[in-house]
Amino acid sequence: MVVKPKIRGFICTTAHPEGCKAIVGEQIEYVKNKGKISGPQKVLVIGASMGYGLASRISAAYGCGASTIGVIFDKQGSESKPASAGWYNTAAFEEFAHKDSLYAKTINGDAFSREIKEETIALIKKDLGKVDMVVYSLAAPRRTTSDGTVYSSVLKTTGKEFTNKTIDVKTGAVSEVTISPATEQEIFATVKVMGGEDWKEWIGALKAADAIEDGAVTVAYSYIGPELTHPIYKDGSIGRAKAHLAETAKEITKSISGVSAYVSVNKALVTQSSSAIPIVPLYISILYKIMKEMGIHEGCIEQMYRMFAEKLYGGSVVTDEEGLIRMDDWEMRGDVQNKISEIWNNISDDTIGECADLDGYRTDFNRLFGFDAEGVDYEADTDTAAGIESLA
Ligand code: NAD
Repeated sequence: MVVKPKIRGFICTTAHPEGCKAIVGEQIEYVKNKGKISGPQKVLVIGASMGYGLASRISAAYGCGASTIGVIFDKQGSESKPASAGWYNTAAFEEFAHKDSLYAKTINGDAFSREIKEETIALIKKDLGKVDMVVYSLAAPRRTTSDGTVYSSVLKTTGKEFTNKTIDVKTGAVSEVTISPATEQEIFATVKVMGGEDWKEWIGALKAADAIEDGAVTVAYSYIGPELTHPIYKDGSIGRAKAHLAETAKEITKSISGVSAYVSVNKALVTQSSSAIPIVPLYISILYKIMKEMGIHEGCIEQMYRMFAEKLYGGSVVTDEEGLIRMDDWEMRGDVQNKISEIWNNISDDTIGECADLDGYRTDFNRLFGFDAEGVDYEADTDTAAGIESLA
């Protein structure tokens, strides 16, 4: 079928198989051109199909030559209905990896569940013996715990309401939005979904099954951002979950012998999950403009390659005084943030065109779903039923 984007709010309900393949291919080429990293050899990536998780898998495989097992939660397509973008990304990644003689297998299911943990561990034991790195890159709206309770995360403030500027990315209209504070129950639920509990369960289960090497590294991802987004992010309900994630890293390192756990604070980028956060898309489109002008803009693959090459496996692990890996080092530079503050105060419908990179934002959003890739004929029929080799 011919696949066109169908955008509903901050989600696109279609995805283009060849476009996704082209974009995965571009990321692989980027890493191949950067050169080899002396790093992990057997890597489990939880949340491997999109955004930072996919870029981590590509960096591990093509940067370090690692065998990778990816856990994804995606929908297969049919001849009349496209799959989810993560499905096509994973199908493409495996196809490239297998051609390049790299081991790559995938488990498709809810990473929060006990069944998927057991299935993944059985695969590790059968094919790899043990893993030496675990990347935890889930961004999920909800989690069902083993007792059947469903927790939903919210993107709200804590304490009091917060009003600030936001953007309708589709129309470019700048307006004000007021975000209400989360209840204690909502904060609790957000921590359950996006905090560190499940990460620790994974590492504990791997350890109990003797499926993780002594000296293994595990990393999960976080965000801090500048003061202007603190009420909705760092000090908001999601920030509580991220604080829990950072505490969990310390707990894992202390309580699970032989494993070093880190949280990497990554740059704000357009992904499926960040586009759902109020205010943040306006901040990101200004950030893109400034960082591109300064020649220091990075996407997920540039961030993750640099994390592997320079912060995790460049010799010793590079962290700040709180033990966090700072991949937001360039985003948080004083010169970048000063320019953003100036623009932020004056941004309106009239100035948006010159002050923000809205086109760049939109292109990156479209590319999440395989649209706007170079060299792809979007008028041509495409095979929407493409399968993932290891799941065939
Ligand atoms: P994303 O939406 O691009 O990717 C999330 C991945 O998790 C997808 O592959 C999705 O399929 C998978 N997933 C979700 N629920 C799952 C489940 N139940 N089982 C298995 N897989 C599941 O998101 P992202 O932006 O790459 O976020 C990844 C991590 O990076 C998150 O912790 C996020 O907070 C963090 N982060 C994001 C940004 C940003 O600006 N995007 C910045 C810093 C940190």
